[in-house]
Amino acid sequence: MEQYQVMESVQRFVEQHPQNTIPQGLPDYEDLAGMVVYQPPLLGFASAEDPLFIRLKEWEAVGPQHMTPEEWLPAAKSVISFFLPFTRKIKESNYQDMKIPSREWLYGRLEGQTVVDDTCQFLVDFLRGQGFEAVAPSLDARFRSKKESQDPQFHSFASNWSERHAAYICGLGTFGLSKGLITKKGIAGRFGSVITSAPIEPTQRAYAGLYDYCTMCGKCGENCPVNAITVQGGKDHRTCSPYVDLTSQLYAPRLGCGKCQVNVPCQDGIPNLEFHQDSGDMVPLSDV
Ligand code: SF4
Ligand code: SF4
Repeated sequence: MEQYQVMESVQRFVEQHPQNTIPQGLPDYEDLAGMVVYQPPLLGFASAEDPLFIRLKEWEAVGPQHMTPEEWLPAAKSVISFFLPFTRKIKESNYQDMKIPSREWLYGRLEGQTVVDDTCQFLVDFLRGQGFEAVAPSLDARFRSKKESQDPQFHSFASNWSERHAAYICGLGTFGLSKGLITKKGIAGRFGSVITSAPIEPTQRAYAGLYDYCTMCGKCGENCPVNAITVQGGKDHRTCSPYVDLTSQLYAPRLGCGKCQVNVPCQDGIPNLEFHQDSGDMVPLSDV
């Protein structure tokens, strides 16, 4: 299968998804009806046999609970990762007040996640329709997040399939200090992925190290309302996570913060185009 066949289908699907536009008549959102949530998607592809997938089982990476593409799908040949970047309006709305999440951002996190899930399912159906096998780990009954699992083997705040690590391996971008993934369309948006038996040419990664696209400028940490990010210490998930949980109580059924992803040099693109060529490979994984 050719990359462009997948790209065109996914792009069309996202553009036409009803929840990719804030609808008329949604309570509290009447004035925002018609606002588009996502820009056109970015897609990346990797071989299911890429050795980096095995390395995600290391404790320094995601952890031993992380499943390889073959464990999800024995006939796996390729991994497809997509990034749905938020539109500028969604991003700009979220730095009008740095203490509370904007309504646009909250919509993007809840209804926007429906678009991501539906895009995963669309891709699975599309690939099966072409005669291939396909699995979306995030929709699979075997998927476990840390919060759902009582398994002490689970690395802190890590699931058994990491969308951001899959996106890194598929060539979509590198991590930032805030632990988001910086892509050529910036850091603010949502990721999804599918594993398939379809052979697809892998995307050439334009980087060598985990943090190549991050300048370590620290602006994401300055934006954080609970000081969960420092240049010296990285991101403390144990500080961030309770704060995001609190927003789920305040804004139920919505939630979100995202102040570390807006009004930052990596908001809309790659801030550091002179890559750190000496940053090595997958070693500095610590708490990504
Ligand atoms: S704001 Fe600066 S330090 Fe934070 S992720 Fe973006 S480039 Fe890296
Ligand atoms: S999501 Fe919010 S609380 Fe968490 S690190 Fe980013 S800015 Fe801080």
